[in-house]
Amino acid sequence: MRCLNCGAEINNNLKISEMFLFRTKIPNYICDLCRSQLEPLEGQNNCPRCCKPNIGTICQDCLMWEKKYQIINCHQALFEYNQFIHSYFKLYKRYGDVLLARLFYQDIKRWSLKHSFDVVTYIPASPSHLQARGFDPVYELYKDIFNLKKLLVKADADKPQAQKNRLERLQTPQTFYPLPELEQIQRNQSILILDDIYTTGRTLMHSHDIFLRAGFSDISTFSLSR
Ligand SMILES: [Zn+2]
Ligand SMILES: [Zn+2]
Repeated sequence: MRCLNCGAEINNNLKISEMFLFRTKIPNYICDLCRSQLEPLEGQNNCPRCCKPNIGTICQDCLMWEKKYQIINCHQALFEYNQFIHSYFKLYKRYGDVLLARLFYQDIKRWSLKHSFDVVTYIPASPSHLQARGFDPVYELYKDIFNLKKLLVKADADKPQAQKNRLERLQTPQTFYPLPELEQIQRNQSILILDDIYTTGRTLMHSHDIFLRAGFSDISTFSLSR
């Protein structure tokens, strides 16, 4: 197996402890050198609500979401947003290398085995993005790991998130709408909403809000990067 990011040969030997924990071997698509450039969030002094690293208390953004939407943020993420993650998403999303969707397969799969939810949904691409890119990056990232249900639609925004500054991002109004399928889900079910990157939390908070308003109370969110 070769690393999807750099093409280097991957050493796939599992540690004994991993064999007991997971029993079956989880495919790995990233080499040790690329992996060494990642900064796992686990075990850092994170915000307990959103995993913002090295803060040790509830961060300002989470306090703001609580005040604005009465949302007690329950977010988990795997890796700190650093240069490696930045370059990864540039290749994956901007240049549309869909094969890179599996680079973090092993990490996401492991997380999924340790957590369970009744319903797993995701932040969909807007129609114009989907058309321009030819694939939905968040769906592709998680489709082989979770049983994904499409429950939200995203309206086309005035300008792409990447071109907005922090204040503009925070102030962007709600751009999601629930699909009729959402009505068929029992309100006592636990919901997990997936996204690729958590920056200000706005995207996930807006989608969280849709579920909250629909009457759900057990709502969690997850992103690859924070
Ligand atoms: Zn590599
Ligand atoms: Zn926070």
